[in-house]
Amino acid sequence: MYWNREIETMERAALETLQLQRLQDTVLRVAQRVPFYQERFAAAGFTPDDLRSLADVRRLPFTTGADLRATYPAGLLAVPLDDAVRLHTSSGTTGKPKALYFSRQDVDHAAELIARCLVMSGMHAGDVLQNIMTYGLFTGALVMHYGAEKVGCLVIPAGPGNSERQLMLMQDFRTTAIHATPSYALYFADFLEKKGVDPRKELSLRRAFVGAEPYTEETRRKIEAALGLQVFNSYGLSEMNGPGVAFECPQQHGMHLWEDHFLLEIIHPETGDPVPDGEQGELVLTTLCREAMPLLRYRTRDITTVLPEPCACGRTHRRIQRIAGRSDDMLIARGVNFYPQQIESILMGMPALGRNYLIVLEGLDELTVKVELAEAGFDGQVEHLARLQSRIADSIRAELLVKPKVDLVPPGTLPVSEGKAKRVLDKRSL
Ligand code: AMP
Ligand code: ZN
Repeated sequence: MYWNREIETMERAALETLQLQRLQDTVLRVAQRVPFYQERFAAAGFTPDDLRSLADVRRLPFTTGADLRATYPAGLLAVPLDDAVRLHTSSGTTGKPKALYFSRQDVDHAAELIARCLVMSGMHAGDVLQNIMTYGLFTGALVMHYGAEKVGCLVIPAGPGNSERQLMLMQDFRTTAIHATPSYALYFADFLEKKGVDPRKELSLRRAFVGAEPYTEETRRKIEAALGLQVFNSYGLSEMNGPGVAFECPQQHGMHLWEDHFLLEIIHPETGDPVPDGEQGELVLTTLCREAMPLLRYRTRDITTVLPEPCACGRTHRRIQRIAGRSDDMLIARGVNFYPQQIESILMGMPALGRNYLIVLEGLDELTVKVELAEAGFDGQVEHLARLQSRIADSIRAELLVKPKVDLVPPGTLPVSEGKAKRVLDKRSL
């Protein structure tokens, strides 16, 4: 099922023609209206006439998170402030947030893209979506909310936390789908298990839209098994409207990135050069339809790969692979670079382990992996635990070439956060 069949299945050549037109429009508009880009163009000796093909996008300057912070709170507005109808901010790490403005058309477009995603997953009017993301300055909840309303779903703006109340809402209103972070979905699965609630028998859940932080295929399968539903990977970032940038179709193999709205590039994170299709690199996005705040070649810092082959679902918009990690989150211990998700992948594949973990780095690059045991696996037998510990340590060493210390802790004892999970505690930098 399609929300907008014509666009979603558009021939590649036509799609690329549309992209070029929209890119040229966008570049012309920022050249006329955004002092930040005027300066960058001047410095690079670039004029909008230089943009004759999509490949010419490489002549444009990058925009980074630091640029957005430096222009806070005014933002990189390309319309009079009066034309902006919504503000979101993205907190990211430390310091000033990024201010992101939406015009009325931008708000409509964001909802339209979510509608495509939801219908692609099989949702329709009559579905009940419990939105377990944080409502507020964060785009995650609101953008999904309006998109789901557009499809005709009954949307429950539950927000995160309070699992008792989440469960009550699910039972009383027969929730068919949830939108949550992977860490909350896992936490909620634990909660149901402890309460002895069998979601397959007592709830009506069929789908979960899971995103806002990196997670692995093993985690997806764990959530699916525990909640008895299908998990669709949902990717977005506040700088590009929030959720609805790329989303899985029922093939569950990579996420279709809506290329009529975003021009996608994959670059080498250090050199900035393009990498060939099928190779991993940093995702760089240019908005093609944004009115209030167009962004050129935005460095997402997210590491992924383009899957160029056509998808069996019939959509022509290319897919990106599950995000392997953020270049900002890359850890270095004993000269080895790795992403927390490489460890997650191992932990979530072991049935004896629970659903929460924490990576601790301290001293002279000592790596400790703390991981909760599964409820069922926690029989406290010292011998059994020691064997499990060394199996985990060996698997991690085989993957990273660094042997960690492994702490097995009882279920429910590691901290959980309401928003995005904090998987790494780097005491070396404290
Ligand atoms: P925010 O601007 O707060 O919405 O955060 C956006 C960031 O969250 C992205 O740049 C990614 O690093 C991360 N993110 C969002 N969705 C996903 C996803 N499905 N998989 C991995 N990371 C994600
Ligand atoms: Zn598909």
